[in-house]
Amino acid sequence: MATSERMEKINQVLRHARGSSFYRERLPETPLRSWEEFQRLPFTTKEDLRRQSPHGLICVPSEQLRQYHESSATTGTPVSAWFSGDDLAEIQERFSEWGVGFIPGDRVLVRFPYALSTIGHFVHAAAQHKGACVIPADSRTTITPLPRVVELLRKLQVTVLATISLSAVMIAEAAEMAGFNLRRDFPHLRAICCAGEPLTQSRRRLLEELWGVPVYDNYGMTETGPQAMDCREQQLHPWQGHFCMEVLDERLEKEVAPGETGYLVVTSLTRRASPMIRYLTGDRVQRLERRCECGQGSTLLIRGRVEDLLWSEGRPIDLWELEEIVSQLPSRRFWRVSSAPDGRLHFMVEKERDGDSLRPALLSRLESHHGVRLRVDLVPKGTLYDRQEPVSFGMTGKPIYVCSSRFMQEHRS
Ligand SMILES: [Zn+2]
Repeated sequence: MATSERMEKINQVLRHARGSSFYRERLPETPLRSWEEFQRLPFTTKEDLRRQSPHGLICVPSEQLRQYHESSATTGTPVSAWFSGDDLAEIQERFSEWGVGFIPGDRVLVRFPYALSTIGHFVHAAAQHKGACVIPADSRTTITPLPRVVELLRKLQVTVLATISLSAVMIAEAAEMAGFNLRRDFPHLRAICCAGEPLTQSRRRLLEELWGVPVYDNYGMTETGPQAMDCREQQLHPWQGHFCMEVLDERLEKEVAPGETGYLVVTSLTRRASPMIRYLTGDRVQRLERRCECGQGSTLLIRGRVEDLLWSEGRPIDLWELEEIVSQLPSRRFWRVSSAPDGRLHFMVEKERDGDSLRPALLSRLESHHGVRLRVDLVPKGTLYDRQEPVSFGMTGKPIYVCSSRFMQEHRS
């Protein structure tokens, strides 16, 4: 986007955002003249949103509101997100261009939480918009425990499974436990669609290996709505023209060079009901400026949440790298990690087979390759996730990978 065009869009959204009580106080009345001026505007933080919820960020008359959502409340106070009819129509339109290519005849099993959460509803609407048939299986409910999801996948000849990536691993295990061969016994399945947590390259590979079908990713959050999605080449492209994305250094002062990892700050350019101005997403991303086969020029790698960053030997280790390490282990499906008191990265990984064991040579190879010191405990199945728990192994909120060393002590076999 040309600079003048971008500034015009930014000024439009700033003017619109001042319709809310929150932004009226903190945004200037006069249009901005430069990108530098824009970058001096204060960030919007999750704390701001908590304080302003539920009504402080609404910019349209109440009659224009069509849908309400709340973010999962890890801290107790949820964050509100409102959508107008135009917002929903636009999201549906863009979302239905997802690289998975929903078509009539598709049967899409949606295994995202439906209650208050956004993503399930967006996938649901987009799939139907393209003529697919939706099976709203939900996730955080006792009505569809994993064995029932496996049964639905087979019985209904499901073609696309849409779920959080960790849940796709859980479903795989449940199917295997029921005696099915993933690649042979689900012949209709043609793709898996993921959203709801960062999909690392290792996790994508694991899922494609398990299920034998391509995986398509999507990135967004309740506060902002979807921001990026995979094209048919499985590259995650930002929704240009709908979001202005800044990738900032760790002091949140300057933009990092293309290809470097930084902190994602987004401004929604077209959202009507509750726009976000310079929202600190809390995610670390890499933006690669390279032309994709599909014609788009910018690709995002979502490296993980800031709070999932571990420090080892004076350098940050993010979810991508943690999963890269796990992907080399003999068991790699269910794991947690913490910083051990002696500075090592301490992994706890559930054994997939009884005989799984760790060769010291592998550990030292991983240590020298990643420049970290490691401790890896292979623990019995069920140590990290209770298989008897009907709600996705007890995964009632966002998946957790990084935890305290106290958790490790308490769960030591
Ligand atoms: Zn592409």
